[in-house]
Amino acid sequence: MESFKDADLSKLTTIRIGGRGDLLLFPDGEEDLVRAVLRSREEERPLLILGGGSNTILGDVKGIVVSTKKMSGIDVKPLGEGRLKVEVLCGTPLKEITSLALRENLKGIYKLMGFPATVGGAVAMNAGAFGTEISEYLVSVRFVNWEGRVEVAKKEDLSFSYRSSPFPKIGVVLSCELVLERSPFPVLEDYKRIREIRKKTQPINLPTSGSTFKNPYPEHAGKLLEKVGMKGYRVGDVAFSEVHANFLVNLGRGRFCEVLKIVGEAKRRVFEEFGIRLEEEVRIVEDSGSDGWKVL
Ligand SMILES: Cc1cc2nc3c(=O)[nH]c(=O)nc-3n(C[C@H](O)[C@H](O)[C@H](O)COP(=O)(O)OP(=O)(O)OC[C@H]3O[C@@H](n4cnc5c(N)ncnc54)[C@H](O)[C@@H]3O)c2cc1C
Repeated sequence: MESFKDADLSKLTTIRIGGRGDLLLFPDGEEDLVRAVLRSREEERPLLILGGGSNTILGDVKGIVVSTKKMSGIDVKPLGEGRLKVEVLCGTPLKEITSLALRENLKGIYKLMGFPATVGGAVAMNAGAFGTEISEYLVSVRFVNWEGRVEVAKKEDLSFSYRSSPFPKIGVVLSCELVLERSPFPVLEDYKRIREIRKKTQPINLPTSGSTFKNPYPEHAGKLLEKVGMKGYRVGDVAFSEVHANFLVNLGRGRFCEVLKIVGEAKRRVFEEFGIRLEEEVRIVEDSGSDGWKVL
């Protein structure tokens, strides 16, 4: 397994902001990943699991950072009646599934197009868009728990909700099984419609980490941020996008401390104006104890 000491973590996040990581590992498969979990236990070092880094912003990480980027693969089998069984490894780009959906004219899941997630990260975040979420298609998840044992859990035994799942709290997703169904109507038109909406409403030319805050139902975080003057608001080289007020963008040499300042300012303003406490969707990881960490 490839490993690096004192690694530059900015390359592992889509917003290109990250500090130094004590140890960075790239497991080649399940055995490597189990070994990494066992190592973090034995050495009592926290472990941070990363997929595409498209919803994560990193400070310095004093522990073991594990990237699943090399654990990619997809296996598709017909189940009859227009259904497909899809087994997919955690580090596989979600795009491989949305492309499959387009080729095979599959219902719903094509709507998760246009964001640079891995399948493991999408399951952990219960990624969703345009009225659908990845958990709708899940049958089971194979994962390594924090004792280093591999388990398989059925979807019914896992609790998924809006941008939330039991992972990585209960362990690291190794792979999952999905069942996808053919659509009676062509999905291509709708796929193109969604692609156009994304182009118009999201900052596609700048490094970004997607939605910063969850939508505090029934409100939209982006609208609230716009109302309190955060759209385009800048601290150093980090700003809320001019295109989408809930997307943070890196305008050049954005730094982690700037992220903390701008996120704090946004939360303060929205609370003072509307009494609403915004909750981060993006995982802001700094030292041990933050979200996304498993401290053993
Ligand atoms: C341009 C853009 C548009 C976006 N649009 C959307 C959207 O429409 N809808 C949406 O839901 N999201 C969107 N996002 C956010 C992001 O793509 C999703 O949250 C995605 O699911 C994150 O996947 P990832 O692999 O990049 O995860 P990471 O950012 O690498 O990790 C996210 C979390 O998942 C955990 N994790 C990662 N891999 C595993 C694993 N194998 N096992 C256990 N835990 C794991 C991490 O520890 C972390 O807590 C967008 C992001 C960008 C940059």
